[in-house]
Amino acid sequence: MNHPYLLVDTDVVEARAREFVSLFPGAHVRYAVKANPEPAVLDAVLSVGAGFDVAGRAEIELCLARGADPATLAYGNTIKKRDDIAFAYAHGVREFTSDALSDIENLAEYAPGSLVSIRLLLDAPDSVTPFGRKFGCEPEAALDLARRAVALGLRVGLAFHVGSQQPDPRAWEIGIATAAKLAAEGLFLERVNIGGGFPVSYRDSVPPLAEYASAIASALAAYFPDGHPPLLLEPGRVLVADAGVIRTEVVLVKPGSPRWVYLDIGRYNGLAETENEAIAYRLLTERDGPSGPVILAGPTCDGDDVLYQRTPYELPLSLRAGDLVEIPGAGAYTASYASVAFNGIEPLAVRCVGRFAHA
Ligand SMILES: *Cc1c(COP(=O)(O)O)cnc(C)c1O
Repeated sequence: MNHPYLLVDTDVVEARAREFVSLFPGAHVRYAVKANPEPAVLDAVLSVGAGFDVAGRAEIELCLARGADPATLAYGNTIKKRDDIAFAYAHGVREFTSDALSDIENLAEYAPGSLVSIRLLLDAPDSVTPFGRKFGCEPEAALDLARRAVALGLRVGLAFHVGSQQPDPRAWEIGIATAAKLAAEGLFLERVNIGGGFPVSYRDSVPPLAEYASAIASALAAYFPDGHPPLLLEPGRVLVADAGVIRTEVVLVKPGSPRWVYLDIGRYNGLAETENEAIAYRLLTERDGPSGPVILAGPTCDGDDVLYQRTPYELPLSLRAGDLVEIPGAGAYTASYASVAFNGIEPLAVRCVGRFAHA
């Protein structure tokens, strides 16, 4: 084996997507394409009747090329050029997310009559990879923006995202409560978009997806006792992470204390989510025998290309250059984050298997 690669089982994607759709009956499910944009992955998602959360022209074209109905695309990126809006509208996209007046004015002009959900900035419990304050606006400002949008002929909803890899099943409740409060101010909501954030088990395990679904159903029932607006969800990670395993190889073991292990995959060719050691992947090797602590690093000449130095990791003492290391649960935010040629290293290759894989 000369290169690391990501192996994706599209049957697992299909099963996860089917489970997700069944846990949120009646909701619009829009897979966040950026998590893994492989055409075979999109085909698996399409097969269960879900649509897509897209961030720009290239993702729109990709989804339409797979046969998606543009009515099932939600343009979830708040940051867009006028040309991007016009492109989306010309291709049939009618649903957007926004958090700024100038963007809403652009939507009214270039995507007239569309449904725009105003993204809320909320104090959700910490997620593993939070969005910080980059997106959304305070509830008061959201109410004002929604009223401006209606005045400009747009239809309105509210949106929020609790942060990716969000372990707390109650995290969505704050957003749902805020949406209900704004609806009570006389806002007619055609959408409550509760985003993604659903977590998967890496080294730390998380509760089953059903617990998140029931916490969300309870919050909706509590805050919208007379029925809630149509719900939209944008799961990314949870539909694809468990479907992928990365096969990588040990390049070098530098003995000592600490012992350093260098892999042929690192921060820049697939493991971007090890930044700040946010995601602690499981690692599997074929060696038995006693293990010892390691610092794990990637193959490039960049000092930041270190995967784990604070998070304790142990690997077999017999580990050697050339050994295979498998990283399960790696189907999300890996290949799509790889750089083009840093140090001449190619982006992470992807191989798909299962019913949706192409011959
Ligand atoms: C990335 C993203 C998602 C998907 O988030 P996950 O945590 O992978 O479920 C959903 N919505 C928006 C707007 C996003 O940017």
